[in-house]
Amino acid sequence: MSTYEQLLAQVVATAGEGETREVFDPATGDLIGIAPVQGVAELEAAIDRAEAAQPAWAALSDDERIAYLNRAADAIEAAAEPLAELLSREQGKPLNGPNARFEVGGCVAWTRAAAGTPLPVEVLIDDESGYAEMHYRPIGVVGAISPWNWPMMISIWQIAPSLRMGNTVVLKPAETTTLSVLALVKVMNEVLPEGVLNIVPGPGRTVGDALTRSPRIGKIMFTGSTPTGKRIIEASAPNVTRLTLELGGNDAGIVLPDVDPKEIAENLFWGAFINTGQTCAALKRLYVHDDVYDEVVEELAKVAANMPMGVGLEDQNVLGPLQNKAQFDIVDRLVESAKSSGARVVMGGDPDRDQPGYFYPTTLIADIDAHQDLVLEEQFGPALPIIRYSDVDEAVKLANELEVGLGASVWSSDRDKARELAARIQAGTVWINSHGGLHPMVPFGGAKQSGYGREFGTLGLKAVAEPQVVSG
Ligand code: NAD
Repeated sequence: MSTYEQLLAQVVATAGEGETREVFDPATGDLIGIAPVQGVAELEAAIDRAEAAQPAWAALSDDERIAYLNRAADAIEAAAEPLAELLSREQGKPLNGPNARFEVGGCVAWTRAAAGTPLPVEVLIDDESGYAEMHYRPIGVVGAISPWNWPMMISIWQIAPSLRMGNTVVLKPAETTTLSVLALVKVMNEVLPEGVLNIVPGPGRTVGDALTRSPRIGKIMFTGSTPTGKRIIEASAPNVTRLTLELGGNDAGIVLPDVDPKEIAENLFWGAFINTGQTCAALKRLYVHDDVYDEVVEELAKVAANMPMGVGLEDQNVLGPLQNKAQFDIVDRLVESAKSSGARVVMGGDPDRDQPGYFYPTTLIADIDAHQDLVLEEQFGPALPIIRYSDVDEAVKLANELEVGLGASVWSSDRDKARELAARIQAGTVWINSHGGLHPMVPFGGAKQSGYGREFGTLGLKAVAEPQVVSG
């Protein structure tokens, strides 16, 4: 089993290798290592390897590929601690809480789920009108492009089902979390056959763009922002490349007047602040009924005050820094704009801008206008706007008025009432009395401009396959 130092040594760039980038710990500003930066030539070579390996991989039986995936999950599990430490240092998320160790555990769970989900041949008709069955064939080479917020787990969501279905993969990780994903792939490749899983660490605008334009890529699995998703649609259109797009969100939560504020406060907190708010399906705007507004804000603030933020490797911390300066600046700008609009700062909103790390304090902003920038734009950080409402129809209208619709939540002590309200909300998932929980068997994806396609479960496996009817 490798130590952190051994794992890091296997993925950092070697001197004279070509272009490189220094990687700094977002909590301390310390240098972690030097990452390789590859280009389009290396991408083409990776696609060559993936194409060469694909027929033999597809020719294996489903059971053989399942066994490989389970062995990959075992390998991740065996390297869990060094992987979590590297993720914590590079991404910034703490080891503990729903963070780095949790993410590596998620990689194991999702890999095993992709291996364990049954996908039998479906008989569509079998009567006097005819016989037809549905098969799910490999597409070929899948291009995977992942973001920096949950860099390992989201890469796994793209890789594991693709491999299960007989495709090979070329993965491009986000620029600022390259080392973590290189390490994950390194560990998986200890057990996978040569050429099946390939990684090209490089910029989105060159390597990512070339991947989406390549006629040799049959399907793109993309998770990232909506503007990049739109670019990918255009770039891939000439080849009619299949796409699964998991894009940005600005999830609403609606709290009904019948809740017990104390009871829901902790779930509200984690719904909004998991991964220090840098989560696609985090609660990003909270609409609370006037009857319980003050109490909900107060209880939420009490929970938030007890959640330590700091350097990820220190055991007590459950919140960390923003992953990069650009994201820190977005959160800072949106909170400053909320403050100058006259909204009430319940806590936070006062970052130390001269610190070496990108820590933004846990921030609750109350009595904010429903059309303030912090409400309308995705903050992707630890700052939650809490909007007061008195008419539930108005709250639903506000929840639905944005172009995105990844997740949403309804909070009520009456489950039937909450389910009725859920049906009126335009989002890929509506949670009741919690927000953001994912399960490898439950399909996940967005409505409207939060993307299309679904990951996880049987729907997720079908999404990385070519449906083929055999009839007669
Ligand atoms: P981003 O779109 O900037 O980058 C995502 C990935 O795309 C990176 O690997 C990047 O290098 C690559 N990329 C950039 N330009 C490209 C191009 N022209 N062609 C191909 N690839 C390109 O997003 P980000 O800042 O890394 O991630 C944050 C965003 O991702 C947020 O909006 C968040 O909501 C969203 N997100 C969505 C989900 C989801 O499941 N829906 C999950 C996590 C994050």
